[in-house]
Amino acid sequence: MAEKEAAPKKEKKVREKKMAYQTVKGMHDILPEEQPLWDKVRLATKHVGEFYNFQRIDTPVLEGADIFERGLGTKTDIVEKEMFVIKTRGGDKLVMRPEFTSAVMRAYYQHGLSQFGQPMKLYYEGPVFRYEQPQAGRYRQFNQVGFEILGAESDPVYDAQAIMSAFRIIEELKIKNVTVHINSIGCHKCRATYIKKLEAHYKKNALKICKDCKNRISTNPLRVLDCKEEKCQLVKAEAPIILDYLDSECKAHFTKVLEYLDEVKIPYYIDSYLVRGLDYYNRTVFEFFGEGFSVALGGGGRYDYLSETLKLGKLSAVGSALGTERIIEVMKASGKIIVPRGAARVFLVHIGDEAKKRGLALIEEFRKSGVRINESFGKDSLKSQMRVADKEQAQLSLILGQREVFEGSIIVRDMETGAQESVPLERIVEEVKKRLK
Ligand SMILES: [Zn+2]
Ligand SMILES: [Zn+2]
Repeated sequence: MAEKEAAPKKEKKVREKKMAYQTVKGMHDILPEEQPLWDKVRLATKHVGEFYNFQRIDTPVLEGADIFERGLGTKTDIVEKEMFVIKTRGGDKLVMRPEFTSAVMRAYYQHGLSQFGQPMKLYYEGPVFRYEQPQAGRYRQFNQVGFEILGAESDPVYDAQAIMSAFRIIEELKIKNVTVHINSIGCHKCRATYIKKLEAHYKKNALKICKDCKNRISTNPLRVLDCKEEKCQLVKAEAPIILDYLDSECKAHFTKVLEYLDEVKIPYYIDSYLVRGLDYYNRTVFEFFGEGFSVALGGGGRYDYLSETLKLGKLSAVGSALGTERIIEVMKASGKIIVPRGAARVFLVHIGDEAKKRGLALIEEFRKSGVRINESFGKDSLKSQMRVADKEQAQLSLILGQREVFEGSIIVRDMETGAQESVPLERIVEEVKKRLK
């Protein structure tokens, strides 16, 4: 895949360098040629979401900073260094949302959505923003699609459904060999016991771990398990695992989630060191990994404490999300064919100004009857317009010249056989409908 893609990318970069104006660091354009893939992801999200009875929600890009500072925890990477913070002229501190979950929770309470169902199942798609060092697969503006299930008493069936919903999108997009890495990080009670053990282990090995981990062990201890440094990995390999410290309720919950996943044949792998470094998670946490990709396609977890942390009330919830850019990267790597711009099977060719004018109105007649038609109004010569029709693999060309306009007719040309026939203009739409295969 790398080889095939390398060439055009290089070419683009050379061209881009000549221009003074560029996309901001870590942000990217989604060009027309890529849009069919984006459409596929959005459509799959809608299909899956609606099938499992999720309703769509859209929240603003800007939110009050406190939602994320409280919700995610101040000692998380996101809040400490990755938020795009905006001070308004009025002195309010806003952020460009770094994730959806806290914003959806805010909307749930703000609009009293609990009255519309228990649990309330919501899906979303859109951009999120993180001020990170851009690297392969990481952008400062990237997109997510996801699901949130709010309410319903921590029932493990919904953990399974949140996982399943994201997994079904992956399946619908024909991405193969994806595994769910899953773990339980328990509740406040049993996690506290585990964290003590973990702290003791890392303190004992303090000389063998990196500086960041030394900090983390006192500020956000579970985060040490996410460290990618080789020496820290060695310490991690000997670290206690949380599953050994779960209390009986958390253990039973996790067992149920796994049973449900077995039932619907979702392949999973118990990853004892998976923690996902956000404060709001409890019990189930998970990530999706494609074969041969080290970066997760997405993930999620249960967040029964988020509403309380935000001082909104008590509400059990669980959610999952996928990174759209990452999904698309995998789709590209697997060689999915990109369809060129909307393949209309009818092409309008005009000769002369009068024909151009009449053609403009004719296209509206086609639009009203739901038949797609392309044109190339910018080109004047018959030859160059026919070339475009050929390139777009139109089945029929409609040729409109001065004489045809005058006589109220139009020539229909079968692009495969070359056969031509003059048809009265007022009948052309139905004639075309008859001939389209
Ligand atoms: Zn517990
Ligand atoms: Zn480390």
